Amino acid sequence: MTLLATKATSQVSNTSEPLAGASAPVIVIRGLIKTYPIGEQEVRALQGVDLTVNRGEIVAIMGPSGSGKSTLMNVIGCLDTPTGGSYELDGVAVNELDDDQLAEVRNRKIGFVFQSFNLLRRTTALENVVLPLIYAGMGGEERVARAKAALARVGLAERMHHHSNELSGGQQQRVAIARAIVNRPAILLADEPTGALDSRTSEEIMALFQSLNHDDGMTVLFVTHEHDIGLHTRRVIRLRDGRLESDTPVAHPLVAADILATMPLPLAADGAAEPAEPAAPAA
Ligand code: ADP
Ligand code: MG
Repeated sequence: MTLLATKATSQVSNTSEPLAGASAPVIVIRGLIKTYPIGEQEVRALQGVDLTVNRGEIVAIMGPSGSGKSTLMNVIGCLDTPTGGSYELDGVAVNELDDDQLAEVRNRKIGFVFQSFNLLRRTTALENVVLPLIYAGMGGEERVARAKAALARVGLAERMHHHSNELSGGQQQRVAIARAIVNRPAILLADEPTGALDSRTSEEIMALFQSLNHDDGMTVLFVTHEHDIGLHTRRVIRLRDGRLESDTPVAHPLVAADILATMPLPLAADGAAEPAEPAAPAA
């Protein structure tokens, strides 16, 4: 695994000379406020957050329950609009857009992954992944080719015709990730993507995120409440009471592929070791 360790180290030195457009800010947030009215009162979910994320970064957002992590992700993902402050996504002033424009930006620039996968049941993996491309107005042949490529990228080429309810939790999360990246978004967002998964499957999802970040140059932000999962990034941001409490670089990110190599293989129902889900599938 020295090779992978070296790869991770080279990731550090490469940050000064990465892909074209890298180190340009993709998220610029200033004084972000989000309040929710509750009867006469209001809940202040975000109370003035400043945050800049550059293209090609991988970032974990942590903090206690109720600290505003999901609210921040939903605003970044254009699923919710802020009450105050400004948000620029990939050069677009998001807070000035109307609902239709917001939906358009969301479709083109954002890939969102949820803890609960949010797949359509009784629908195949392929159909789930094709869906965002139908919304984007892409033609039939091209969108099927693109969806197949995205499923291959997450290591699920052989399961594309399975219904989502026939897949394991880890496989369902891979389908959700394929659906999130199929539009080639500027950023991949995930809210507690490993929250419903066991340790090994969580590590496999981390391996996939690290590969999408390192090999495909994708900007990745995810929420986690697990310390170890957060350390698979290069930067950990902590929220508390709707404010940014800390923003800390991770000197030596955990390399998921290395950790996976030390973990026992899962047991199949018949007691035989099951072939692992591919950790970092070939592109
Ligand atoms: P976290 O994801 O860190 O657990 P959230 O962003 O979900 O935190 O919530 C932050 C605060 O905002 C909490 O006090 C929560 O109760 C409140 N909140 C979140 N969403 C809503 C909503 N739709 N309506 C009212 N209050 C909300
Ligand atoms: Mg949350």
